[in-house]
Amino acid sequence: MEEADRRQKHVKAIIFGAPGAGKGTYGSRLKEKLGVEVIATGDIFRELMKDNSELGKKVKGFVEKGLLVPDEVVVEILKQRLSDIPEGKGFILDGFPRTLEQAKTLEGITKIDVILLLDVPDQIIIERLSSRRICRNCGTVYNIRFLKPKVEGLCDKCGGPLYQRSDDNPEVITKRLQVYQEQTEPLLEYYKKKKLPIITATTKRIEQKPEPIVDELIEDLKKQKLA
Ligand SMILES: [Zn+2]
Repeated sequence: MEEADRRQKHVKAIIFGAPGAGKGTYGSRLKEKLGVEVIATGDIFRELMKDNSELGKKVKGFVEKGLLVPDEVVVEILKQRLSDIPEGKGFILDGFPRTLEQAKTLEGITKIDVILLLDVPDQIIIERLSSRRICRNCGTVYNIRFLKPKVEGLCDKCGGPLYQRSDDNPEVITKRLQVYQEQTEPLLEYYKKKKLPIITATTKRIEQKPEPIVDELIEDLKKQKLA
């Protein structure tokens, strides 16, 4: 293998996808199959808020007031996580950058090879999220249309009660999708201008399983010598 190929084997990617497009699912599958780290800012915030560190308290202060965590704090966290990744290991960023400002800041921190874009029609997201149910006990996610629990209303794993998130209704979901579009469009434009490759994975059916799409993504990464 060429030296350059070997060096590029560990991809540095940003994943974009609307809420409900399945970023978490795809991220964890890609982590498994490519041996990369996933840095999901949302998960990191939730983790941090559980501990009593200075940073944790800072994040908690913003989130509890319903405020966005400011850029400088997000960047501080991101830098820390990136520096924890062993030399040469790849990563996928999920939830960052959200703004052009953040995209520019990111350039000063690390190099990005590729954008992974999960393209799911709004209608599918609305249907999928409206039929989503979550276990109150263990957080396992079900879908009353195509990922039903064995017993209606109860978790297969722990028997806990299933509930529907209050923001999983068509009006709120539509609003979330609009916010996502408004945030993401300028970012995609920005990366297009930078000539960064953008690999799009399109979901066409609501019951689409993630595996074939993950395999396609990996094929595309290989074609570009990024995996
Ligand atoms: Zn459960």
